[in-house]
Amino acid sequence: MKVLSDYHVHTSFSGDCKIVAEVMIEEAIQKGIRHLCLTDHMDYDYIDSAVCFEFDTAEYFRRLLPMKEKYADQIDLAIGIELGLQPYLSKKHHNLVFSHSFDFILGSVHLVHCKDPYYPAYFQGREEEDAYQEYFQCVLQNLEAYSNFDVFGHLDYVVRYGPNQNTYYSYQKYQEIIDEILRSLIKKDIGLEVNTGGYKYGLGVPNPCPEIICRYRELGGKIITLGSDAHDPAFLSYEFERAATLLKSCGFSSYYIFHNRKPEEIGL
Ligand SMILES: [Zn+2]
Ligand SMILES: [Zn+2]
Repeated sequence: MKVLSDYHVHTSFSGDCKIVAEVMIEEAIQKGIRHLCLTDHMDYDYIDSAVCFEFDTAEYFRRLLPMKEKYADQIDLAIGIELGLQPYLSKKHHNLVFSHSFDFILGSVHLVHCKDPYYPAYFQGREEEDAYQEYFQCVLQNLEAYSNFDVFGHLDYVVRYGPNQNTYYSYQKYQEIIDEILRSLIKKDIGLEVNTGGYKYGLGVPNPCPEIICRYRELGGKIITLGSDAHDPAFLSYEFERAATLLKSCGFSSYYIFHNRKPEEIGL
């Protein structure tokens, strides 16, 4: 069965996206997407002052709730958010999450000790392997600090931006810490996102890599969402067929969507 659910999509509420929600939704309808979740960036205290990754959540709901109705017979629209996790933000995230009725909350790590691997400075003056290791350590720290979200986004995000990307990277190299992360996710009932942005970045695989997705299942993980991380309608449901084939090869027979933060299973 074709995967018709994209659960990681940005709109102009995100500081790095210019596409308004209506355009994204209408393009998704054109593409035959049935379940769409908008997950705009909320990265408090983002380091680059040239870009703001915070938005007015009240306005977000004011704009999006009527669209749920407007497009109801064409697409199932879910209102989500992508929280940029940093351990000290847990109280702020707690307040945000409880003050709105989100359908879906994606937790992602974009900043490691105030540095985004997106910028080369994160890798400067050290081995790539150490920089990757530090990223995973930070993921674990974040999980200990705050875990009231539904799915963890692009688990090996750091690999997109490494000087050699995934050329020398493998799950086995970081097995100990990644297993600890996966066990923690499973224990907390947090799902794992298969983010097809990895294909777009030329990795040839999604984020996280196939070995991590298979390992999540091996350890007992069930909740998978698929997300394109589209900031442009051209990338909606990008390479989802490839990701679905990969999921089946790992032994998954379903993936999930969310409403009111409750997971709903859909067969692959
Ligand atoms: Zn992200
Ligand atoms: Zn994103």
